[in-house]
Amino acid sequence: MTTRAALVPVWRGAVLATALVLGAPSPQLPAQRASGPAVDDAALADEPSGAHWLAFGRTYSEQRFSPLARIDTSTVGNLAVDWFLDLPGERGLVSTPLVVDGVLYFIGSMNIVRAVNAASGALLWEYDPEVAVHAGRRMRAGWDHSRGIAFWNDAVYVATWDGRLNAVDAATGRELWSTMTIEPEDNFYITGAPKVFKGKVLVGNGGTENGAARGYVTAYDAETGEQAWRFHIVPGNPADGFENEAMAMAAETWTGEWWKHGGGGNAWHGFTYDPELDTLYIGTGNGSPWNRKIRSPGGGDNLFLCSIVALDPDTGEYRWHYQTTPGETWDYNSNMDIVLADLNIDGRAVKALMHAPKNGFFYVIDRANGELVSAAPFTETTWATSVDPASGRPVEVPGARYENGPAFVSPGPIGGHNWHAMSYNPATGLAYFPAIHLSYRFSDESIDLDAWRSPLRGTGTGVRTTRLGSSRPDGVLGSLQAWDPVRQRRAWEVPLDGMWHAGTLTTAGNLVFQGSATGELAAYDAETGAVLWRFRVGSGISAPPITYAVDGRQYLALLVGWGGAYAGVGGRISADQGWAYGVHPRRLIAFSLEGAASLPPSPPPRVPAPLEAPHFEVDAGLARQGALEFGGVCSSCHGGGAVSSGMAPDLRASGLVLSAGAFANIVRDGRTERGMPDYPELTDQQLTALRHYIRQQAELELAGR
Ligand code: CA
Repeated sequence: MTTRAALVPVWRGAVLATALVLGAPSPQLPAQRASGPAVDDAALADEPSGAHWLAFGRTYSEQRFSPLARIDTSTVGNLAVDWFLDLPGERGLVSTPLVVDGVLYFIGSMNIVRAVNAASGALLWEYDPEVAVHAGRRMRAGWDHSRGIAFWNDAVYVATWDGRLNAVDAATGRELWSTMTIEPEDNFYITGAPKVFKGKVLVGNGGTENGAARGYVTAYDAETGEQAWRFHIVPGNPADGFENEAMAMAAETWTGEWWKHGGGGNAWHGFTYDPELDTLYIGTGNGSPWNRKIRSPGGGDNLFLCSIVALDPDTGEYRWHYQTTPGETWDYNSNMDIVLADLNIDGRAVKALMHAPKNGFFYVIDRANGELVSAAPFTETTWATSVDPASGRPVEVPGARYENGPAFVSPGPIGGHNWHAMSYNPATGLAYFPAIHLSYRFSDESIDLDAWRSPLRGTGTGVRTTRLGSSRPDGVLGSLQAWDPVRQRRAWEVPLDGMWHAGTLTTAGNLVFQGSATGELAAYDAETGAVLWRFRVGSGISAPPITYAVDGRQYLALLVGWGGAYAGVGGRISADQGWAYGVHPRRLIAFSLEGAASLPPSPPPRVPAPLEAPHFEVDAGLARQGALEFGGVCSSCHGGGAVSSGMAPDLRASGLVLSAGAFANIVRDGRTERGMPDYPELTDQQLTALRHYIRQQAELELAGR
């Protein structure tokens, strides 16, 4: 990989040259693990010092709340860059770093993991799981993003895009073991952080839209990598027998021959372990395909889609479930963060879990039994007016299931809230998360529902969705929400430019930190939402910040690099941010009150201009066919409507599209090392159709000027 030699660690403004040997222990590595606290159940349940960030949500509660308060509402104005590490070859960076005993660990593009000195940014080791080599055509299903890694005892756990779970020695970056977690026939990938608890490591997977998908989670022994248990999220073919009673129960809620489409439910994010109740909560995914008329034509709730499922952490046995969207048909998965807190509701102490899934409602659930405590919409919800407190079910709006023709629905498939991290501050009693305000048109009128088949390559959902625009009268697309879970109402809100804003961090300094799609990291007063500090990082932000301390100094660290699914497929709205492919910096930045470094200037946002090609005559029929091909094969990286949002080149601006030969070469051979899979089976006719569609989209924009 070419970026390795170009890594530039900067320590308080001084440039240090670093020679790297892949996988070799660094001679400067202090023997910190020998003296530091064990990263075990006790530490993960309660880390009172704030020095460490031990897990995805810092501790088992997933609150992303830090007790550190040196940076507070009165000092945050002095926050400045302490050090930064440029990461020139990276793409979308969406992950939460971990900090253990003064070493910061993070995962980047192609799932490369790096350990750096948390006080200087000096690189200690780098671990490359060689995703491109292992993934092959699995790359077709997703993106090489990872939202994080896990730490247990002396090992870092890395779940790879191609489906492996790898354990890595935290001191040296040496691989300890590796196991494949997905079956060969599954068109799955992993973007989620592994979850450790009680000496086990849990992984899920994504890929619900990429074939006949039947989701599952699997737990492995942290020491050996041996499989401990697996829990399927939806039932398989009854003729094969059910794995357990939970699957037999779930099968009662399905109709038709759902197993032919897999059913879905993939758990790609949202795993929380509760040490008090010794229970594991899994947020589950949407249907495969989205359209219930195809998936389960006689109706039904379709358990355990779009649910929180509570499992025995030792055996994977089912305990209870709460389904947020029964019989889902809009991609309203419930894979978002599950945050634990003790709440006082009407004088009653409730062991609560909080969850703000795609469907736009904020849920407070009694985590002892899975019963609904309360729910209220945090964004515009035109598919359901409310959640009935007695039954716990949404009160749906007739027509929203596009049962009588096209339906105009918000939230859309991107959700009212996606995977961007939610934090909770026990001092303010508020939860903080980015919301999305976007309407869509859903219609299956042009689809032969009986003949529909799951895709063999690319993407298929069984319904056509068209993005319409903001669901709010003021046109706002994205906002930061501070939500009071006890009163089930918004405490404050900050409307933001654009959408797909990053997750949050909250601290005992009465602060909330959040990065934006526009490339600004901001600190807010956690009680009022007043902006106290802003900093431009030079590129769009999709990752949540963390905080930690080394030798009494409090640091705030953040990965910078516009990314995630919407940065791939988002098209126009996403592209308008101007984070064009390969133009803007990717980096890890650490701030402190003592910081004295400064970032080099970053190019201004840029939206690529389509290439003028007057000699290319677009054939409308070929372009129509190409549109379908593009949607299934190309759009997840090169952008909806062929408008790239920055994860891959904008093909409307590419001269390669003008040449049948050059285009065929790159599409059929791929650029595996850069994350572009090969498509050798595409015919000349399909390739020609793709070229005509791309040129048509280019001409449309050129004509609109
Ligand atoms: Ca989905």
